[in-house]
Amino acid sequence: MEVSLSPLPAAEIAADLLVLPVREGHDPGLGLGGVLGQVRFTGRAGQDLLLPRRDGDAFRAAAVLLVGLGDADADDEHAVRRAVGRVAPRLAEFPTVAIAFPHVQAVIEGVRLGGYRFDGYKSEPRGRAFRELVILAGADPQGVARAGIVADAVTFARDLVNTPAGDLVPMDLAERARAMAEACGLGVRVLDAGALREGGFGGILGVGAASANPPCLIEVSHPGDGVSGTVGLAGKGITFDSGGLAIKGLGAMSTMKCDMAGGATMLAVVQAAARLELPVGVTAVVPAAENMVSGSAIRPGDVLTHRNGRTTEVTDTDSEGRLVLADALAYLAEGSPDVLIDAATLTYSVMHALGEDITGVIGSDRGLVGELIAAGARAGEPMWELPLWEPYADRLESEVADAKNEGGSLADATIAALFLRPFTAGLPWAHLDFATTAYLDKATDLGPAGATGAMIRTLIGYLESRS
Ligand code: MN
Ligand code: MN
Repeated sequence: MEVSLSPLPAAEIAADLLVLPVREGHDPGLGLGGVLGQVRFTGRAGQDLLLPRRDGDAFRAAAVLLVGLGDADADDEHAVRRAVGRVAPRLAEFPTVAIAFPHVQAVIEGVRLGGYRFDGYKSEPRGRAFRELVILAGADPQGVARAGIVADAVTFARDLVNTPAGDLVPMDLAERARAMAEACGLGVRVLDAGALREGGFGGILGVGAASANPPCLIEVSHPGDGVSGTVGLAGKGITFDSGGLAIKGLGAMSTMKCDMAGGATMLAVVQAAARLELPVGVTAVVPAAENMVSGSAIRPGDVLTHRNGRTTEVTDTDSEGRLVLADALAYLAEGSPDVLIDAATLTYSVMHALGEDITGVIGSDRGLVGELIAAGARAGEPMWELPLWEPYADRLESEVADAKNEGGSLADATIAALFLRPFTAGLPWAHLDFATTAYLDKATDLGPAGATGAMIRTLIGYLESRS
Protein backbone atom coordinates (compact mmCIF):
# COMPACT_ATOMS: atom_id res chain seq x y z
CA MET A 1 0.00 0.00 0.00
CA GLU A 2 1.36 3.37 -1.07
CA VAL A 3 0.63 6.22 1.31
CA SER A 4 0.82 9.87 0.32
CA LEU A 5 -0.29 13.16 1.80
CA SER A 6 -2.16 15.71 -0.29
CA PRO A 7 -2.96 19.36 0.42
CA LEU A 8 -5.97 19.23 -1.93
CA PRO A 9 -9.41 19.96 -0.52
CA ALA A 10 -11.65 16.89 -0.39
CA ALA A 11 -13.83 18.11 -3.27
CA GLU A 12 -10.87 18.18 -5.65
CA ILE A 13 -9.30 14.78 -5.13
CA ALA A 14 -9.82 12.37 -8.06
CA ALA A 15 -9.82 9.05 -6.15
CA ASP A 16 -11.94 5.94 -6.63
CA LEU A 17 -13.25 6.48 -3.11
CA LEU A 18 -13.26 9.45 -0.77
CA VAL A 19 -13.80 8.65 2.92
CA LEU A 20 -15.29 11.52 4.93
CA PRO A 21 -15.78 11.65 8.70
CA VAL A 22 -19.13 12.93 9.89
CA ARG A 23 -19.80 14.04 13.43
CA GLU A 24 -23.27 13.13 14.62
CA GLY A 25 -25.81 15.72 13.53
CA HIS A 26 -23.28 17.68 11.43
CA ASP A 27 -23.31 18.37 7.72
CA PRO A 28 -20.53 16.45 5.90
CA GLY A 29 -20.10 19.25 3.37
CA LEU A 30 -19.63 18.73 -0.39
CA GLY A 31 -23.33 19.47 -0.83
CA LEU A 32 -24.25 16.09 0.64
CA GLY A 33 -26.25 17.38 3.59
CA GLY A 34 -29.55 17.23 1.70
CA VAL A 35 -29.27 13.54 0.84
CA LEU A 36 -28.72 12.42 4.40
CA GLY A 37 -32.19 13.08 5.75
CA GLN A 38 -33.66 10.79 3.09
CA VAL A 39 -31.42 7.85 4.03
CA ARG A 40 -31.40 8.32 7.81
CA PHE A 41 -27.65 8.71 8.10
CA THR A 42 -26.99 10.79 11.22
CA GLY A 43 -23.27 10.25 11.81
CA ARG A 44 -23.80 7.92 14.75
CA ALA A 45 -20.66 5.89 15.61
CA GLY A 46 -20.77 2.64 13.63
CA GLN A 47 -22.88 4.11 10.81
CA ASP A 48 -21.57 4.52 7.30
CA LEU A 49 -23.02 5.35 3.91
CA LEU A 50 -21.61 4.80 0.41
CA LEU A 51 -22.71 7.33 -2.21
CA PRO A 52 -21.65 7.01 -5.87
CA ARG A 53 -21.06 10.34 -7.60
CA ARG A 54 -23.99 11.61 -9.59
CA ASP A 55 -24.08 14.26 -12.29
CA GLY A 56 -23.76 17.66 -10.74
CA ASP A 57 -22.11 16.51 -7.49
CA ALA A 58 -19.58 18.97 -6.12
CA PHE A 59 -16.68 16.49 -5.82
CA ARG A 60 -14.40 14.57 -8.19
CA ALA A 61 -14.07 11.19 -6.41
CA ALA A 62 -16.04 8.35 -8.03
CA ALA A 63 -17.75 7.59 -4.72
CA VAL A 64 -17.90 8.95 -1.18
CA LEU A 65 -18.05 6.85 1.98
CA LEU A 66 -19.43 8.77 4.95
CA VAL A 67 -18.26 7.41 8.30
CA GLY A 68 -20.04 8.26 11.52
CA LEU A 69 -17.89 9.50 14.40
CA GLY A 70 -20.69 9.85 16.95
CA ASP A 71 -19.98 12.51 19.55
CA ALA A 72 -16.27 12.50 18.89
CA ASP A 73 -14.77 15.08 16.61
CA ALA A 74 -12.19 14.46 13.91
CA ASP A 75 -9.43 15.35 16.40
CA ASP A 76 -10.17 12.33 18.59
CA GLU A 77 -7.56 9.89 17.39
CA HIS A 78 -9.08 6.85 19.12
CA ALA A 79 -12.48 7.50 17.53
CA VAL A 80 -10.82 8.07 14.15
CA ARG A 81 -8.76 4.86 14.41
CA ARG A 82 -11.86 2.84 15.25
CA ALA A 83 -14.08 4.52 12.65
CA VAL A 84 -11.52 3.97 9.90
CA GLY A 85 -10.83 0.44 11.17
CA ARG A 86 -14.52 -0.47 10.92
CA VAL A 87 -14.74 0.43 7.23
CA ALA A 88 -11.22 -0.74 6.32
CA PRO A 89 -12.26 -4.22 5.05
CA ARG A 90 -14.46 -2.53 2.41
CA LEU A 91 -11.75 -0.23 1.09
CA ALA A 92 -10.11 -3.10 -0.82
CA GLU A 93 -12.75 -2.73 -3.53
CA PHE A 94 -11.27 0.62 -4.53
CA PRO A 95 -7.76 0.91 -6.03
CA THR A 96 -7.22 4.48 -4.81
CA VAL A 97 -8.70 5.69 -1.55
CA ALA A 98 -8.53 9.23 -0.19
CA ILE A 99 -9.31 9.88 3.46
CA ALA A 100 -10.06 13.31 4.82
CA PHE A 101 -9.07 12.84 8.48
CA PRO A 102 -6.34 15.00 9.97
CA HIS A 103 -4.89 12.23 12.16
CA VAL A 104 -2.38 10.59 9.82
CA GLN A 105 -1.23 7.90 12.27
CA ALA A 106 -4.72 7.00 13.42
CA VAL A 107 -5.87 6.73 9.79
CA ILE A 108 -3.02 4.46 8.74
CA GLU A 109 -3.36 2.29 11.85
CA GLY A 110 -7.12 2.05 11.32
CA VAL A 111 -6.71 1.09 7.66
CA ARG A 112 -3.95 -1.44 8.27
CA LEU A 113 -5.28 -3.04 11.47
CA GLY A 114 -8.95 -2.94 10.51
CA GLY A 115 -8.16 -4.30 7.04
CA TYR A 116 -5.93 -7.12 8.34
CA ARG A 117 -6.67 -10.60 6.98
CA PHE A 118 -4.99 -13.94 7.71
CA ASP A 119 -5.50 -15.59 4.33
CA GLY A 120 -2.50 -17.84 3.85
CA TYR A 121 -4.49 -21.03 4.44
CA LYS A 122 -7.43 -20.14 2.17
CA SER A 123 -7.29 -21.72 -1.28
CA GLU A 124 -8.78 -18.45 -2.51
CA PRO A 125 -7.79 -15.31 -0.63
CA ARG A 126 -10.86 -13.35 0.42
CA GLY A 127 -9.90 -9.82 -0.33
CA ARG A 128 -7.42 -7.70 -2.18
CA ALA A 129 -5.54 -4.88 -0.57
CA PHE A 130 -6.00 -1.54 -2.22
CA ARG A 131 -2.99 0.05 -3.81
CA GLU A 132 -2.93 3.68 -2.86
CA LEU A 133 -4.03 5.68 0.16
CA VAL A 134 -4.07 9.46 0.01
CA ILE A 135 -4.53 11.32 3.26
CA LEU A 136 -5.99 14.79 2.91
CA ALA A 137 -5.35 17.60 5.36
CA GLY A 138 -2.53 15.56 6.86
CA ALA A 139 0.70 17.40 7.52
CA ASP A 140 2.82 14.78 9.29
CA PRO A 141 5.12 12.81 6.96
CA GLN A 142 6.97 11.39 10.00
CA GLY A 143 3.66 10.06 11.27
CA VAL A 144 3.29 8.08 8.05
CA ALA A 145 6.56 6.23 8.64
CA ARG A 146 5.87 5.60 12.32
CA ALA A 147 2.35 4.33 11.70
CA GLY A 148 3.63 1.96 9.00
CA ILE A 149 6.23 0.53 11.39
CA VAL A 150 3.66 0.13 14.16
CA ALA A 151 1.16 -1.55 11.82
CA ASP A 152 3.91 -3.84 10.50
CA ALA A 153 4.74 -4.88 14.07
CA VAL A 154 1.11 -5.67 14.89
CA THR A 155 0.73 -7.58 11.61
CA PHE A 156 3.91 -9.57 12.30
CA ALA A 157 2.61 -10.66 15.71
CA ARG A 158 -0.92 -11.39 14.49
CA ASP A 159 0.44 -13.60 11.71
CA LEU A 160 2.58 -15.56 14.18
CA VAL A 161 -0.30 -16.05 16.62
CA ASN A 162 -2.82 -16.98 13.92
CA THR A 163 -0.50 -19.58 12.37
CA PRO A 164 -1.67 -23.09 13.31
CA ALA A 165 0.42 -24.57 16.11
CA GLY A 166 1.41 -27.52 13.92
CA ASP A 167 3.19 -25.08 11.62
CA LEU A 168 4.72 -23.00 14.39
CA VAL A 169 6.52 -25.30 16.82
CA PRO A 170 9.21 -23.71 19.03
CA MET A 171 12.02 -23.95 16.46
CA ASP A 172 9.71 -22.52 13.76
CA LEU A 173 9.08 -19.54 16.02
CA ALA A 174 12.86 -19.23 16.44
CA GLU A 175 13.33 -19.26 12.65
CA ARG A 176 10.66 -16.59 12.18
CA ALA A 177 12.34 -14.48 14.89
CA ARG A 178 15.74 -14.99 13.25
CA ALA A 179 14.43 -13.90 9.84
CA MET A 180 12.83 -10.81 11.38
CA ALA A 181 15.99 -9.95 13.33
CA GLU A 182 18.23 -10.32 10.30
CA ALA A 183 15.91 -8.17 8.19
CA CYS A 184 16.14 -5.42 10.84
CA GLY A 185 19.85 -5.81 11.54
CA LEU A 186 19.23 -7.05 15.08
CA GLY A 187 21.28 -9.48 17.11
CA VAL A 188 19.61 -12.86 17.61
CA ARG A 189 20.50 -15.85 19.74
CA VAL A 190 18.64 -19.16 19.99
CA LEU A 191 19.38 -21.58 22.82
CA ASP A 192 18.34 -25.06 21.71
CA ALA A 193 17.45 -27.89 24.08
CA GLY A 194 21.11 -28.81 24.60
CA ALA A 195 22.03 -25.22 25.48
CA LEU A 196 19.00 -25.01 27.78
CA ARG A 197 20.22 -28.11 29.66
CA GLU A 198 23.71 -26.67 29.97
CA GLY A 199 22.27 -23.33 31.11
CA GLY A 200 19.97 -24.77 33.76
CA PHE A 201 16.65 -23.73 32.21
CA GLY A 202 14.67 -26.44 33.98
CA GLY A 203 11.30 -24.72 33.64
CA ILE A 204 11.42 -24.50 29.84
CA LEU A 205 12.81 -28.02 29.53
CA GLY A 206 10.19 -29.46 31.87
CA VAL A 207 7.26 -27.87 30.05
CA GLY A 208 8.67 -28.95 26.68
CA ALA A 209 9.56 -32.48 27.79
CA ALA A 210 6.50 -34.26 26.36
CA SER A 211 6.66 -32.75 22.89
CA ALA A 212 8.30 -34.26 19.82
CA ASN A 213 9.25 -30.65 19.03
CA PRO A 214 12.04 -29.54 21.34
CA PRO A 215 11.85 -26.24 23.28
CA CYS A 216 14.19 -23.31 22.86
CA LEU A 217 14.85 -19.81 24.14
CA ILE A 218 14.88 -16.95 21.64
CA GLU A 219 16.70 -13.70 22.36
CA VAL A 220 16.57 -10.66 20.08
CA SER A 221 18.39 -7.47 21.03
CA HIS A 222 18.22 -3.87 19.90
CA PRO A 223 21.32 -2.22 21.39
CA GLY A 224 20.05 1.36 21.51
CA ASP A 225 22.54 4.19 21.86
CA GLY A 226 24.21 2.76 24.95
CA VAL A 227 23.37 5.71 27.20
CA SER A 228 19.56 5.78 27.23
CA GLY A 229 19.09 2.72 29.40
CA THR A 230 17.75 -0.74 28.70
CA VAL A 231 14.44 -2.54 28.92
CA GLY A 232 14.15 -6.31 29.24
CA LEU A 233 11.06 -7.91 27.70
CA ALA A 234 9.96 -11.51 28.28
CA GLY A 235 7.02 -13.05 26.40
CA LYS A 236 5.39 -16.41 27.07
CA GLY A 237 6.04 -18.62 24.05
CA ILE A 238 3.91 -21.74 24.55
CA THR A 239 3.33 -22.64 20.89
CA PHE A 240 0.51 -24.96 21.92
CA ASP A 241 -0.95 -25.59 25.36
CA SER A 242 -2.79 -28.90 25.71
CA GLY A 243 -2.59 -28.52 29.50
CA GLY A 244 -0.11 -31.40 29.71
CA LEU A 245 -1.22 -34.36 31.86
CA ALA A 246 -3.77 -31.99 33.46
CA ILE A 247 -5.21 -31.98 29.97
CA LYS A 248 -7.69 -29.29 28.93
CA GLY A 249 -11.12 -30.01 27.47
CA LEU A 250 -11.61 -29.30 23.79
CA GLY A 251 -13.33 -25.97 24.42
CA ALA A 252 -10.40 -24.53 26.33
CA MET A 253 -7.80 -26.20 24.11
CA SER A 254 -9.19 -25.15 20.72
CA THR A 255 -7.65 -21.67 20.72
CA MET A 256 -4.37 -22.63 22.37
CA LYS A 257 -2.24 -21.82 19.33
CA CYS A 258 -2.56 -18.33 20.83
CA ASP A 259 -0.48 -19.23 23.90
CA MET A 260 2.67 -17.75 22.38
CA ALA A 261 1.07 -14.32 21.95
CA GLY A 262 3.29 -12.84 24.68
CA GLY A 263 6.37 -13.96 22.79
CA ALA A 264 5.03 -12.67 19.47
CA THR A 265 4.26 -9.34 21.16
CA MET A 266 7.79 -8.90 22.48
CA LEU A 267 9.37 -9.87 19.15
CA ALA A 268 7.12 -7.33 17.42
CA VAL A 269 8.06 -4.64 19.93
CA VAL A 270 11.82 -5.14 19.52
CA GLN A 271 11.34 -5.08 15.75
CA ALA A 272 9.58 -1.72 16.00
CA ALA A 273 12.21 -0.37 18.43
CA ALA A 274 14.89 -1.12 15.85
CA ARG A 275 13.01 0.28 12.89
CA LEU A 276 12.10 3.44 14.83
CA GLU A 277 15.78 3.68 15.86
CA LEU A 278 14.82 4.26 19.48
CA PRO A 279 17.75 5.22 21.70
CA VAL A 280 16.63 2.89 24.50
CA GLY A 281 18.14 -0.60 24.40
CA VAL A 282 15.63 -3.46 24.22
CA THR A 283 16.19 -7.17 24.75
CA ALA A 284 13.29 -9.52 24.02
CA VAL A 285 13.44 -13.06 25.36
CA VAL A 286 10.93 -15.74 24.39
CA PRO A 287 10.92 -19.07 26.22
CA ALA A 288 9.32 -21.33 23.61
CA ALA A 289 7.90 -24.76 24.37
CA GLU A 290 4.99 -26.98 23.39
CA ASN A 291 3.00 -28.24 26.40
CA MET A 292 1.95 -31.72 25.27
CA VAL A 293 1.10 -35.19 26.57
CA SER A 294 3.36 -38.22 26.20
CA GLY A 295 5.35 -40.75 28.21
CA SER A 296 8.06 -38.15 28.74
CA ALA A 297 5.68 -35.52 30.15
CA ILE A 298 6.36 -33.90 33.52
CA ARG A 299 4.06 -35.31 36.20
CA PRO A 300 2.21 -33.53 38.99
CA GLY A 301 4.67 -33.65 41.87
CA ASP A 302 7.81 -33.43 39.73
CA VAL A 303 10.31 -30.77 40.80
CA LEU A 304 12.02 -28.48 38.28
CA THR A 305 15.12 -26.38 38.92
CA HIS A 306 15.06 -22.95 37.29
CA ARG A 307 17.80 -20.83 35.77
CA ASN A 308 18.45 -18.98 39.04
CA GLY A 309 18.53 -22.15 41.14
CA ARG A 310 15.02 -21.86 42.59
CA THR A 311 13.00 -25.06 42.57
CA THR A 312 9.33 -25.55 41.73
CA GLU A 313 7.06 -28.46 42.54
CA VAL A 314 4.75 -28.78 39.53
CA THR A 315 1.35 -29.31 41.09
CA ASP A 316 -0.54 -28.29 37.92
CA THR A 317 0.91 -29.05 34.49
CA ASP A 318 -1.57 -26.57 32.95
CA SER A 319 0.03 -23.70 34.87
CA GLU A 320 3.02 -23.98 32.56
CA GLY A 321 3.37 -20.36 31.45
CA ARG A 322 4.83 -19.23 34.75
CA LEU A 323 7.34 -22.11 34.65
CA VAL A 324 8.88 -20.94 31.37
CA LEU A 325 8.60 -17.23 32.24
CA ALA A 326 10.47 -17.87 35.48
CA ASP A 327 13.51 -19.02 33.52
CA ALA A 328 13.20 -16.18 31.02
CA LEU A 329 12.92 -13.48 33.70
CA ALA A 330 15.86 -14.90 35.66
CA TYR A 331 17.93 -14.97 32.47
CA LEU A 332 16.99 -11.40 31.50
CA ALA A 333 17.67 -10.15 35.03
CA GLU A 334 21.29 -11.34 34.71
CA GLY A 335 21.83 -8.47 32.26
CA SER A 336 20.51 -5.95 34.86
CA PRO A 337 18.15 -4.00 32.59
CA ASP A 338 16.61 -0.85 34.10
CA VAL A 339 13.17 -2.47 34.02
CA LEU A 340 11.67 -5.88 33.29
CA ILE A 341 8.32 -6.31 31.57
CA ASP A 342 6.70 -9.60 30.72
CA ALA A 343 3.54 -10.39 28.76
CA ALA A 344 1.62 -13.64 28.83
CA THR A 345 -1.70 -15.25 28.04
CA LEU A 346 -1.52 -16.50 31.58
CA THR A 347 -4.66 -16.93 33.66
CA TYR A 348 -8.40 -17.54 33.42
CA SER A 349 -8.53 -15.33 36.48
CA VAL A 350 -7.79 -12.18 34.47
CA MET A 351 -10.49 -13.15 31.94
CA HIS A 352 -13.12 -13.25 34.66
CA ALA A 353 -11.90 -10.08 36.33
CA LEU A 354 -11.38 -7.79 33.33
CA GLY A 355 -13.03 -9.30 30.23
CA GLU A 356 -12.14 -8.82 26.63
CA ASP A 357 -11.29 -5.10 26.54
CA ILE A 358 -8.86 -4.71 29.42
CA THR A 359 -5.37 -6.07 29.99
CA GLY A 360 -4.32 -6.78 33.57
CA VAL A 361 -1.06 -5.35 34.88
CA ILE A 362 0.67 -6.32 38.10
CA GLY A 363 4.04 -5.02 39.16
CA SER A 364 6.64 -4.46 41.81
CA ASP A 365 7.22 -0.81 40.86
CA ARG A 366 4.47 1.82 41.15
CA GLY A 367 6.13 4.17 38.68
CA LEU A 368 6.53 1.53 35.99
CA VAL A 369 2.95 0.29 36.35
CA GLY A 370 1.67 3.87 36.11
CA GLU A 371 3.76 4.59 33.01
CA LEU A 372 2.45 1.45 31.29
CA ILE A 373 -1.17 2.28 32.11
CA ALA A 374 -0.62 5.80 30.75
CA ALA A 375 0.95 4.38 27.57
CA GLY A 376 -2.05 2.07 27.23
CA ALA A 377 -4.43 5.02 27.53
CA ARG A 378 -2.53 6.90 24.82
CA ALA A 379 -2.66 3.87 22.54
CA GLY A 380 -6.35 3.21 23.17
CA GLU A 381 -5.54 -0.11 24.88
CA PRO A 382 -7.12 -0.04 28.35
CA MET A 383 -5.23 -1.61 31.25
CA TRP A 384 -6.13 -2.10 34.89
CA GLU A 385 -3.86 -2.81 37.79
CA LEU A 386 -4.34 -5.94 39.89
CA PRO A 387 -2.60 -6.32 43.25
CA LEU A 388 0.69 -8.02 43.98
CA TRP A 389 -0.78 -9.00 47.35
CA GLU A 390 2.09 -10.41 49.38
CA PRO A 391 -0.01 -12.23 52.01
CA TYR A 392 -1.21 -14.61 49.30
CA ALA A 393 2.35 -15.80 48.69
CA ASP A 394 1.81 -18.50 51.32
CA ARG A 395 -0.55 -20.25 48.89
CA LEU A 396 2.53 -21.20 46.89
CA GLU A 397 4.33 -22.92 49.76
CA SER A 398 5.49 -26.44 48.90
CA GLU A 399 6.52 -29.28 51.23
CA VAL A 400 9.33 -30.36 48.90
CA ALA A 401 10.48 -27.36 46.83
CA ASP A 402 10.89 -23.56 47.09
CA ALA A 403 7.38 -23.12 45.70
CA LYS A 404 4.63 -24.95 43.89
CA ASN A 405 3.24 -23.56 40.64
CA GLU A 406 -0.39 -23.09 41.57
CA GLY A 407 -2.15 -21.76 44.62
CA GLY A 408 -5.81 -22.63 44.20
CA SER A 409 -8.47 -21.08 42.01
CA LEU A 410 -8.85 -17.74 43.81
CA ALA A 411 -6.91 -14.66 42.63
CA ASP A 412 -4.78 -16.73 40.29
CA ALA A 413 -3.60 -13.67 38.31
CA THR A 414 -2.08 -12.37 41.56
CA ILE A 415 -0.79 -15.81 42.55
CA ALA A 416 0.96 -16.19 39.17
CA ALA A 417 2.65 -12.82 39.61
CA LEU A 418 3.72 -13.73 43.15
CA PHE A 419 5.20 -16.93 41.72
CA LEU A 420 7.22 -14.92 39.16
CA ARG A 421 8.48 -12.21 41.50
CA PRO A 422 11.49 -14.13 42.94
CA PHE A 423 12.84 -14.44 39.40
CA THR A 424 13.04 -10.68 38.85
CA ALA A 425 16.11 -10.10 41.06
CA GLY A 426 14.51 -7.09 42.73
CA LEU A 427 14.46 -5.09 39.48
CA PRO A 428 11.51 -2.82 38.72
CA TRP A 429 9.11 -5.23 37.06
CA ALA A 430 5.66 -5.25 35.49
CA HIS A 431 3.70 -8.27 34.36
CA LEU A 432 0.99 -8.03 31.68
CA ASP A 433 -1.63 -10.76 31.79
CA PHE A 434 -3.54 -10.56 28.51
CA ALA A 435 -5.15 -13.98 28.41
CA THR A 436 -8.33 -12.45 26.98
CA THR A 437 -7.22 -9.38 25.09
CA ALA A 438 -4.53 -11.09 22.99
CA TYR A 439 -6.95 -13.33 21.12
CA LEU A 440 -10.68 -12.79 20.58
CA ASP A 441 -13.30 -15.03 19.02
CA LYS A 442 -15.10 -12.08 17.46
CA ALA A 443 -14.09 -9.19 15.25
CA THR A 444 -13.44 -5.72 16.68
CA ASP A 445 -13.23 -2.33 15.02
CA LEU A 446 -9.51 -2.93 14.59
CA GLY A 447 -9.42 -6.43 13.19
CA PRO A 448 -11.05 -9.76 12.53
CA ALA A 449 -11.54 -12.54 15.09
CA GLY A 450 -8.28 -14.16 16.20
CA ALA A 451 -5.00 -12.55 17.22
CA THR A 452 -5.34 -8.88 18.16
CA GLY A 453 -1.74 -7.74 18.58
CA ALA A 454 -2.83 -6.16 21.87
CA MET A 455 -0.20 -4.30 23.92
CA ILE A 456 2.21 -3.82 21.01
CA ARG A 457 1.16 -0.22 20.40
CA THR A 458 1.19 0.36 24.17
CA LEU A 459 4.70 -1.03 24.63
CA ILE A 460 6.08 0.87 21.63
CA GLY A 461 4.57 4.05 23.10
CA TYR A 462 6.10 3.23 26.48
CA LEU A 463 9.57 2.75 24.92
CA GLU A 464 9.19 6.04 23.04
CA SER A 465 8.29 7.82 26.27
CA ARG A 466 11.57 6.54 27.78
CA SER A 467 13.56 7.74 24.78
MN1 MN B 1 -1.85 -23.94 30.58
MN1 MN C 1 -0.82 -21.63 28.80
